[in-house]
Amino acid sequence: SSKDGGRGRWTVYDPRMDEERQSRNQMEIDLREAIARGEIEVVYQPVVDAKTFALVSVEALARWTRRGHGPVSPDVFIPIAETSGLIDQLGLCVLSQALRQLGHWPELKLSVNVSPGQFRDPAFVDHVAATFEEARIEPGRVVLEMTETYFIQSPERARLAMDRLRSLGLRIALDDFGAGFSSVGYLRQFGFDRMKIDRSLVQSLDRGHRAVEMLQATVALARSLGIPVTAEGVETEQQAVILRIAGCDQLQGYLFGRPQSPDEIAALMLRPMELRAKAAELAFAGG
Ligand code: C2E
Ligand code: MG
Ligand code: MG
Ligand code: MG
Repeated sequence: SSKDGGRGRWTVYDPRMDEERQSRNQMEIDLREAIARGEIEVVYQPVVDAKTFALVSVEALARWTRRGHGPVSPDVFIPIAETSGLIDQLGLCVLSQALRQLGHWPELKLSVNVSPGQFRDPAFVDHVAATFEEARIEPGRVVLEMTETYFIQSPERARLAMDRLRSLGLRIALDDFGAGFSSVGYLRQFGFDRMKIDRSLVQSLDRGHRAVEMLQATVALARSLGIPVTAEGVETEQQAVILRIAGCDQLQGYLFGRPQSPDEIAALMLRPMELRAKAAELAFAGG
């Protein structure tokens, strides 16, 4: 142990710290290999129209099954990719897979998550443009989802990046609104094409009145700025009803489908009545 600057606090040597660092390093090595071997997979979560529950879009989500360990959550491996310089490669690999897939689904739109770290590469926008050309996908069908951190930390650079991506025809959504600071100032300033309400806010609806009012105010504000709203993490019919009435035009969550394989999405498209029946039931129930 050693005394910390004479302020009376003690830092204790903890062997677990080394272990943690080591296992993190090993995970980084494994992730690098997995990307190089093309082992990162993409699953697709349904996004439905809030009124009809028709499938309108899918969100691409990265999946990694680590050899000898099993599945690793993106909440674990995405941050590792971000701090180890792997996010550029990972991001482009997800984008190109998802665009190739979208080529088989002419009636759907797609959203793909983008990390701030990807903008650090000055060639990022060129790589994105090339990926679209290769897949022959119209950029207007694709929304890039970004969280607020980048817009708060480097607003100037974020604006430049956003303008360049938009000039390709892409749309930009603000992801996870309500999970962090979520100041409305930059919502107006950046003019996002869509806002996604974080699932923590959606799930707070079950806790009653105040939460419902907060959510209604948030959606109303976005709409007054002309920004359409998707709600994430919708798990119950009650949540779906509240969100639809509040003015969300799109819903996403386990109620409509988990992230799933391309084959499962294709199967879902073959039986659209299943989702529509659910919508009709809700309308009957007063939604
Ligand atoms: P996100 O972009 O906000 O994605 C939504 C997350 O919520 C997904 O978690 C999804 O599986 C989960 N989710 C959807 N509906 C429900 C629900 O009804 N209940 C609950 N409990 N969860 C629901 P996932 O796939 O684990 O991804 C976590 C995060 O990792 C994503 O959050 C995104 O920020 C990041 N991520 C995933 N794939 C990528 C990627 O390819 N690139 C980047 N940069 N980030 C990614
Ligand atoms: Mg997202
Ligand atoms: Mg989100
Ligand atoms: Mg998220």
